[in-house]
Amino acid sequence: MASTSTTETEEPTEEPTEHESALQTARRQLQHAADHLDIDPNIVERLKHPKSVHEVTVPIERDDGSVDVFTGYRAQHDSVRGPHKGGLRYHPEVTRDECVGLGMWMTWKCAVMDLPFGGAKGGISVNPKELSDREKEQLTRRFTEELRDVIGPTIDIPAPDMGTDPQTMAWLMDAYSMQEGETIPGVVTGKPPVIGGSKGRDSAPGRSVAIIAREAIDYYEKDIQETSVAIQGYGSVGANAARLLDEWGANVVALSDVNGGIYDTNGLDTHSIPTHHEEPEAVMTHEAPETVSNEELLELDVDVLIPAAIGNVLTADNADAVDADIIVEGANGPTTTAASEMFAERDIPVIPDILANAGGVTVSYFEWLQDINRRAWSLERVNDELETEMLAAWTDVREEFESRDVTWRDAAYIVALSRVAEAHDARGLWP
Ligand code: GLU
Repeated sequence: MASTSTTETEEPTEEPTEHESALQTARRQLQHAADHLDIDPNIVERLKHPKSVHEVTVPIERDDGSVDVFTGYRAQHDSVRGPHKGGLRYHPEVTRDECVGLGMWMTWKCAVMDLPFGGAKGGISVNPKELSDREKEQLTRRFTEELRDVIGPTIDIPAPDMGTDPQTMAWLMDAYSMQEGETIPGVVTGKPPVIGGSKGRDSAPGRSVAIIAREAIDYYEKDIQETSVAIQGYGSVGANAARLLDEWGANVVALSDVNGGIYDTNGLDTHSIPTHHEEPEAVMTHEAPETVSNEELLELDVDVLIPAAIGNVLTADNADAVDADIIVEGANGPTTTAASEMFAERDIPVIPDILANAGGVTVSYFEWLQDINRRAWSLERVNDELETEMLAAWTDVREEFESRDVTWRDAAYIVALSRVAEAHDARGLWP
């Protein structure tokens, strides 16, 4: 293990800048929520720092026989409510601070859903598109070996995130299990169902985004049948949200992938547009009256805007041009602090990621239960229980939103932070 240091390199500056890291944003959001609560400042101080950050180097033999060395991280933020939980991303921009910030968000996401997990996030700074399947497998197995002492079904349970998928999780489970000498499916979630993965896990983040969007549409007294929706990103989150909202009667007017977007005011037939999983980057091959860029999609005049691709797409530069009545965050961290403040001033509700896309980790929790009990659930049971959990969390957050003069993000943070702080208070500081 190369390091378990908890020294952060990036302190938040006084004023939010457009270049703040996920860690800076996460800390600012934490402080904002803490300001609304009567919480011991010592607990807030503790929560601004991760419990540990593991940095490792991951050497692999490339297909041409040369050796490349990548850097991997696992940031474990907090475990007061249960084992660390969170995704692993393979992306060229993965940094230590990004993992710490995203790990902090996982603590709140699990707490807002009242799951018995803490937060973590990890990843490797690598472009997975430049690796063959064999190289990806070797990278994943070696990364697992480097992290073996600090992960496990009761310690820290990884899951898919950007650039990783069920196959990646299968390699991780196999590498871990082979070294431990027994099959341990509960070390990772988001696996293929044939080896202990849960039915409905793949579609869960998109399903929760659709459920929360539906509740928000209803809360703001709109009729879903007359609601127009624009979605940036057509991967697992965007595509599943789009198709469900379409099935429930909403008018999905715009969709995009990395190549750009398509726009039809009469509504798109989402089922005939291949998702990234069915055919990568195929949105633009679908006939539509108009095409839009990814930037233009964010500024369309729609009832609901769902950024479901990458982080930091809604910024001080475009927040004033956004013409949606409601924003539901499908991606993790799509709105910068400055943009959040501008939306608050403009009275545009932003339903935060830690609530909206929490279906992923919620079904991960169902998967972990199924692994421990060695008993699979039906898809119907998974979807029913997900609906119940999402509605319970929505109600908890809505009650905070209604009883205090705060944004939806602050309301979700208040729910989460209260639970985490209470657990810290009960357990105390030791040794
Ligand atoms: N990577 C997903 C997220 O950001 C899921 C994490 C998990 O299932 O542990 O919520």
